[in-house]
Amino acid sequence: MDQRTVSSVIAGRPVAGAPGGRIRSTNPARLDEVVADVALGDATLLVTAAQVASDAQRAWADVPAPVRGRAIAHIGRLVEDNKQALAALVTREIGKPYPEALGEVQEIIDTCDFFLGEGRRLYGQTVPSEMPDKQLFTFRNPVGAVAVITAGNFPVAVPSWYIVPALLCGNSVVWKPAEYSAATAAAFHELFCRGGGLPPGVFNVVYADGPTTFAGLEQALDAGLIDKVGFTGSSEVGARIGELAGRHLQSACLELGGKNPMVVTASADIDLAVEGALFGGFGTAGQRCTSLGTVICHESVHDEFLTRFAEATAAAAVGDPFADVLYGPMLDIRFSERFERFLAWIGPQHKIMGSSGIGRITAANPRARFAGDPEAGIFCHPTIVDGVRPGDKIFDQETFGPLVGVTTYRTLDQAVELANAPGYGLSSSIYTSDASEAFRFRRGVSAGMVSVNNSTSGAEAHLPFGGNGKSGNGSRQSGQWVLDQFTRWQALNWDYSGRLQKAQMDVAELTPDHDFRL
Ligand code: NAD
Repeated sequence: MDQRTVSSVIAGRPVAGAPGGRIRSTNPARLDEVVADVALGDATLLVTAAQVASDAQRAWADVPAPVRGRAIAHIGRLVEDNKQALAALVTREIGKPYPEALGEVQEIIDTCDFFLGEGRRLYGQTVPSEMPDKQLFTFRNPVGAVAVITAGNFPVAVPSWYIVPALLCGNSVVWKPAEYSAATAAAFHELFCRGGGLPPGVFNVVYADGPTTFAGLEQALDAGLIDKVGFTGSSEVGARIGELAGRHLQSACLELGGKNPMVVTASADIDLAVEGALFGGFGTAGQRCTSLGTVICHESVHDEFLTRFAEATAAAAVGDPFADVLYGPMLDIRFSERFERFLAWIGPQHKIMGSSGIGRITAANPRARFAGDPEAGIFCHPTIVDGVRPGDKIFDQETFGPLVGVTTYRTLDQAVELANAPGYGLSSSIYTSDASEAFRFRRGVSAGMVSVNNSTSGAEAHLPFGGNGKSGNGSRQSGQWVLDQFTRWQALNWDYSGRLQKAQMDVAELTPDHDFRL
């Protein structure tokens, strides 16, 4: 297998040396396979990248938007032509099953397809003035140089949600991907720069660890080199990024963690709900921001749902992500170690189901129907925890990994209350055949995204994506909605009357007859 050396790329040139040290990005399904040697940058390198992006931005904004749209079109086609190769790299580097990795790459293509036409739209408005011989207009202006920091569980789809519209709108970018998906990030960056023919400095990539990134970002903000921050990652780090941006009078685009509820009502199609829970809870080993957190089951169907869900989970294939499996390894060793800490939250009041063991799958802690050699990588048992309630950490907090809680409710109001209780608000789902229940749930749930008779995962590239509460600050990605993240509205008024007409004061008033009656 090929192993590449990955370095930051600033102004179109790979950075020599590794001021932040070197790490190895390994295949989590075969830990002895190194996917990339990664040279990390330091805070100064991030500032340099921000300076370069800032310098390059104005010329990029001068490229007509339809021409930038053509660049996005070419990028989309090049990604399409390299779809299998990029998906295979995603599977090798973070262990996402290959069919899901293909879907992940498709999301870049879909995003490019959406935004290539936006280059010919990017509409402003003409607005009537309250005075004669005066015209009002609005324009969308690019924000400037954008810093994008992303997690590695969606190593190319989520970055494309930022980078495609940011570039299309005339911004320049400094991207800081997750360290453990660096080879995938390098391939993405190369496809964008080559496919788009982007001028040097418009799209830069810097590899760095978290604390270094924070220090570099702070310095770049202090120096006025970054005009917008996009951050996808944990709620904890997101809060710090939001605070940092706020101190610089900026509002970051924050896409954070989730504790996504799925309500199974008395009228639900249980087979469908089980299928949705399996995919939502355990797909990508439960390491999606939209992964199912807790199933909130009507008490009349709890036993039936739980039995079938536990059977389906026990029967599911886990293992080699290139084989036909429900899920593969954890993204990286740090996630399996953290998952062990989440498992310690399971208490005596809880009932565990779904597998022949919990925690790491090994020869001594085996899993039936495992595809491949569990000891070669970092694989974890799927775990269903029945009987979770508010106040249990396992109910209240995101447990990034293959773990699904189950609880019960009696009235729909209680279900909504339970759905909102953890304080996140990313995705949610309800299984019901009663339209009024679906709409009452939609209205009450705090989530930015609601699925009816569908799992909590599976966003389409042209609907607003984003969360509330601990899941984000209300920013939305995707479709037309993300344009408000990467442009600022500018209002223009043009008076051609040849005199000073004062708004609110020099405005003609017609005389109404308020006493008129029929
Ligand atoms: P994380 O917050 O630890 O890391 C995310 C990114 O931020 C990485 O690139 C990391 O290097 C960087 N980072 C870490 N500490 C930093 C700091 N102090 N300053 C600046 N950058 C820092 O997140 P994680 O645990 O690696 O990723 C999983 C989390 O991301 C989960 O909570 C998941 O739900 C969330 N996520 C959210 C979305 C979404 O769209 N809402 C999508 C994917 C993942």
